[in-house]
Amino acid sequence: MQVSQVMSTLERKYPYEPEYLQAVREVLESVEDVYNEHPEFEKNKIVERMVEPDRILSFRVTWVDDQGRIQTNSGFRVQFNSALGPYKGGLRFHRAVTPGMLKFLGFEQTFKNALTTLPMGGGKGGSDFDPKGKSDAEIMRFCQAFMLELWKIIGPDTDVPAGDVGVGAREIGYLTGMYKKLAHEYNTGVLTGKGLTWGGSILRPEATGFGALYFTRQVLATAGRDIKGHTIAISGFGNVAWGAAKKAVEMGARVVAISGPDGVCEIPGGIDKEMIDYMLVMRASNRDQVSMMADRFPDRARFTPGRKAWSVKCDIALPCAFQNELEEADARELIANGTFCCCEVSNMGCRPDAIKAFQEAGVIFAPGKAVNAGGVATSGLEMTQNASHISWTGAEVDAKLHQIMSSIHEQCVKYGTQADGKIDYVKGANIAGFMKVATAMLEQGVI
Ligand code: GLU
Repeated sequence: MQVSQVMSTLERKYPYEPEYLQAVREVLESVEDVYNEHPEFEKNKIVERMVEPDRILSFRVTWVDDQGRIQTNSGFRVQFNSALGPYKGGLRFHRAVTPGMLKFLGFEQTFKNALTTLPMGGGKGGSDFDPKGKSDAEIMRFCQAFMLELWKIIGPDTDVPAGDVGVGAREIGYLTGMYKKLAHEYNTGVLTGKGLTWGGSILRPEATGFGALYFTRQVLATAGRDIKGHTIAISGFGNVAWGAAKKAVEMGARVVAISGPDGVCEIPGGIDKEMIDYMLVMRASNRDQVSMMADRFPDRARFTPGRKAWSVKCDIALPCAFQNELEEADARELIANGTFCCCEVSNMGCRPDAIKAFQEAGVIFAPGKAVNAGGVATSGLEMTQNASHISWTGAEVDAKLHQIMSSIHEQCVKYGTQADGKIDYVKGANIAGFMKVATAMLEQGVI
């Protein structure tokens, strides 16, 4: 396999899907050498098969807004790869959603899910519906209309959606309600991220952020450093940023910035419990403005419009918002300010040139598919609990999450340790995930 050849074919076929092309290139560049050591992969055209989703369902979602106007959005579900288990991955509701964006996310999800060690294939879905400024009733009607189409192709052993940007416990509730009505059965395992009283797993809301911090701590420990006492800049203020901030504070770090599409909120004394709780209020308000934090805590938080979290001096950067949110210029600013570690919590949060800048400057960098896998891993644990009609305690789920994040770290070290002894986490995560999916595809024949 030659990456340039595969990529030029894909670029010709999918010229308008830049994020998908970016995600595929990153994985293929990482695995090229290992792939070429296995002639059976080439013989079975594993790469050519793996880069194409199994199928994409595309549908119209029509709903009525609070003014009685009829609104139409596009809905999608990308069932990417089922070599390791039923399709598994979140739903993203965001105005910028396109099939190409969901293909990138589904592709990433396939390898991320492989890293968790749990039996889950990769999928992703969503809509260009923009939750910003929508009322609760509008969100409910949209979710119901979305499920009118989606329900036909999902199920606990087929495809198990969950949350992502713009989709949290509230949306999963409305989606589940409609699924139940359409399918005429109470199938708890059909969606994950459910409410705690109706099949959800303890710790699922916190899991992405908590897992990311367990991973970050291990990355730092491997480099002979401690997370305690260090400053952290976090982008975003949604579910992932919230969990990350909570665990970072618990570990003794100081979170000095959070951000939003409107700018950055600097918190020189470090975020505290009251402020972390307020992040939930900010998110539920659907206003999508981080300035709310400075309005609420003017003595402790300072808002600057139009700036990113990366403009704030910090030891550790944790992108927790959106793909490509950290660009080369941001990486250079962080490096100049003394940042020594960047753990990507958002999916593909850093542009390739930003990652290159970090690596060249000796900044430890770990990719999203390893760092944020605790979220989907805990979804996998939710599926196990649902399938066996039990619920584990918080301590049990947390212990399993710890163990899974440690095993992901171990896989990164196994496949990513370079000749000079340094660990390339990008390579490590990509090769580990790829080998698992490729081997399963090989063993399952040409389908
Ligand atoms: N959306 C999350 C992710 O990117 C979680 C998916 C899930 O729990 O299925 O991994």
